[in-house]
Amino acid sequence: MPVISSSGMRRLGQAARRLKDRFASRALILMYHRVTELPDDPYLLAVKPKHFAEQLEVIRRYGFPMPLRQMVEALQDGKVPKRGIVVTFDDGYADNLYSAKPLLERYDIPATVFVTTGHVGHPCEFWWDELDRVLLQPGKLPPRLELSLDGRAWQWELGEAATYTTADYQRDRTWHIEREDDPTPRHRLHRSLYQLLHNLTERDKQQLLGNLRKWAGAEPIGRPTHRTLSHHELVHLAEGGLIEVGAHTVTHPMLSALSVVEQRDEIRRSRAHLEGILNRPVTSFAYPHGSYTKETLAVVREAGFACASSSEPDAVRTNADCFQLPRIVVRDWDRETFTRWLRRW
Ligand SMILES: [Zn+2]
Repeated sequence: MPVISSSGMRRLGQAARRLKDRFASRALILMYHRVTELPDDPYLLAVKPKHFAEQLEVIRRYGFPMPLRQMVEALQDGKVPKRGIVVTFDDGYADNLYSAKPLLERYDIPATVFVTTGHVGHPCEFWWDELDRVLLQPGKLPPRLELSLDGRAWQWELGEAATYTTADYQRDRTWHIEREDDPTPRHRLHRSLYQLLHNLTERDKQQLLGNLRKWAGAEPIGRPTHRTLSHHELVHLAEGGLIEVGAHTVTHPMLSALSVVEQRDEIRRSRAHLEGILNRPVTSFAYPHGSYTKETLAVVREAGFACASSSEPDAVRTNADCFQLPRIVVRDWDRETFTRWLRRW
């Protein structure tokens, strides 16, 4: 009888666990933002309707699409639905109703849309879209921007990029924030403000954006292409029962940067607002920017939610915490790319 040393036994145990993990049921929660075709998409938020349809077809063929609620109920019973796939959308863009919903209906695939309630029926764009509108569209800007914030003075020079022609725009149109190069001083300014704005309080954010618009001579009213859902559109979105509406705070802050009192206010008010519009319980939540603390988890639970989605890119396994559900971001991929990507998971 061969003798196995204790370290050998340990290695065998580890290998068995790895194998078990490899074949254990895993499910996926997919994270989308927009279904639309945009001339530029600096944050990679949009999936073209054609590609979205192809992705849904692949999900139908290889996966087991289900509502978030069903996935959460299975997890609460200690199970993971094999090949289970949940589709989610963040933020509450109007195209979720006009482009995503008809396709979800065509393939009979349920989805959850997490809505930032402060933007419901509001004519302003999200702050990131506003940065794109003011800084990365063709036109003329003053050559220098000076801003003061928290007693600190900031200054940027645009130089020749103050004038940005349609040809310049066409050349840089496919640029996005995940690229390391910034083709013009406008892109450098955009990146600085993008990083700065992430961590500001809502008041400072609005003040900075107001100053930026004043400097650029830009209107506060947003582009129709970047519109968020109105009150009525939200009601239509939830009609038919295929789409569940979840909460995503009021102002889309970094929750981890707020006090517990402020977090509670953002989380509870967004739920109450949606329940007032939809006249039904709202039980799912998603953390804006995937940001939260230990305290946030308790606040979300106390506020009456049954689950919360993070932005941790991972598959859902049996030990998943229903208040920190992992999600993976889907990009504007065609059928083949999406299928290959899905297989890897
Ligand atoms: Zn969001």
